[in-house]
Amino acid sequence: MEAEIVVSNLTKCYSNGTEALRGINLEVKKGAFFTLLGPNGAGKSTLIKVLTTLLEKDAGLFSIDGINPEHEKSKIQRYIGVASQDNEIDPGEKVENLLTFQSRLFGLSTADAKSRTEELMDTFQLSEQRKKKAGILSGGNKRRLHCALALVHRPQVLFLDEPTVGMDPQARANFWEIINLLNQKEYTTIFLTTQYLDEADKHANAMALILDGKIEYDGTISGFKNLVSQSDSTSLDDSYLKFIQSFSK
Ligand code: ADP
Ligand code: MG
Repeated sequence: MEAEIVVSNLTKCYSNGTEALRGINLEVKKGAFFTLLGPNGAGKSTLIKVLTTLLEKDAGLFSIDGINPEHEKSKIQRYIGVASQDNEIDPGEKVENLLTFQSRLFGLSTADAKSRTEELMDTFQLSEQRKKKAGILSGGNKRRLHCALALVHRPQVLFLDEPTVGMDPQARANFWEIINLLNQKEYTTIFLTTQYLDEADKHANAMALILDGKIEYDGTISGFKNLVSQSDSTSLDDSYLKFIQSFSK
């Protein structure tokens, strides 16, 4: 499989002096289910924001499917979708309208926008919420709406930043079913961050671990378990904790 996301020596420092990314090197293969793990404040959301062009990098390079964001920002924006916890959505707007507006924004015709809206509400089990204002949705439904909004234009790469926070177990299971289907049937590359390591363990096939703005592991999940625990039958959770502890010593 060829690399789809290529990141080289990427750095980002916030205006208050926080060095959030300190020379990130990373490759994510086309069609991968990739997960970026790391403690709170490690730099995961910052990396996603830079890769999705929501935030300017300071130095280094990256490309997505060979597209250089410096010259072709809008091309990247059409190629990717992003669902993050702080996605801006109008809390006073109804679910179905938000999906239709977003579809139109990405250039779908009125008819296509309508059918895409129906399709996504159906997929994400939001049909019953269609007339509800986004602001009054439960946490889990809001996260599903974020995801549906990220998919209106059928992106090749889907960035999910802690997508299952606030979902009940059934919603969570349903959500992963949808994401796995996207990954396996439509070959959408998944770039996930999560603090639920059992989810990463179950669904992802490649991972990187970021600590304090630096990638400290990059490879397969079983490779990580073997490296840390000398066995790939341990849980990712155990190996992760062991790895983090060895760093804080
Ligand atoms: P993660 O998503 O892994 O929890 P973040 O990327 O959100 O980490 O944050 C990385 C670092 O950058 C943290 O130290 C955080 O406090 C800091 N940071 C994040 N956003 C901002 C911001 N807008 N301004 C200043 N510092 C920020
Ligand atoms: Mg984050």
